[in-house]
Amino acid sequence: MKMKKKIRVLIAKPGLDGHDRGALIISQALRDYGMEVIYTGLRQTPEQIVSSAIQEDVDAIGMSCLSGAHNDLFPEVVKGLKKHGAEEIIVVGGGVIPWEDIPFLEEQGVQKIFTPGTPSIETAKYIEKAVYKRDGIGLDEDLELVKKIDHIGIAVNSLDESIPFYLEVLQLKLEGIEEVPSESVKVAFINAGNIRLELLEPTNEKSSIHTFIEKHGAGIHHVALGVANIEQRIKELKKKGITMIHNTPKSGAGGAEIAFMHPKSTQGVLYELCDKSSKESQ
Ligand code: ZN
Repeated sequence: MKMKKKIRVLIAKPGLDGHDRGALIISQALRDYGMEVIYTGLRQTPEQIVSSAIQEDVDAIGMSCLSGAHNDLFPEVVKGLKKHGAEEIIVVGGGVIPWEDIPFLEEQGVQKIFTPGTPSIETAKYIEKAVYKRDGIGLDEDLELVKKIDHIGIAVNSLDESIPFYLEVLQLKLEGIEEVPSESVKVAFINAGNIRLELLEPTNEKSSIHTFIEKHGAGIHHVALGVANIEQRIKELKKKGITMIHNTPKSGAGGAEIAFMHPKSTQGVLYELCDKSSKESQ
């Protein structure tokens, strides 16, 4: 494992637009974060950016473009780096970039596009992570927040009535049935290939699943995101303004530690954080 070093970033303004307030702000934010920043100045061609990056031996290039020419300019820089055998330099971009252009730019090798609302500190953290990852330097917080969708929770009136649909019609496999007294539910896990379905039957009227069915009828109840370090994740999400239904993890079915986010802060979906890492490591 290599040593951590001071990260060097080239901030570049490709193309013809004449405004660099955003570029100067991000330069200062990266310096404040402890990085060395070289700023190219305005109106650079992709070739100039590539040669400055190589000369300055930077780890990453951050480009800002307000002129609308990002779909040409950003990929040209990526291509130029490849041409000079410098494709290990990480390229990120920002400025005024419509959402719908992001997949194209990422496909072209721009690692990340930051939209105007992204706090500078997030940009700094992203670059730091990307450089450490490239260099094989481990970070404790290196794990992605969401590792996968772990399961989808489905509220049912009765497991006995619902299970035949999953086993006989969909021909899926039943993994097991478990009662979770703390939640007043009986849970059946159905293996659906890469994720599981969690059928939830209320065992009494205190169950939140009972309340849910009363209100909405049976159906999709929650989506569970597989995470590690759930306590840390809860802290991070709260810092980002997410309201948690559970501020500390509690034990759920299958030996997982779980916590729910409040749907009012998650675009209307009830998301569960589901951490099985402590169980897996036993
Ligand atoms: Zn669940």
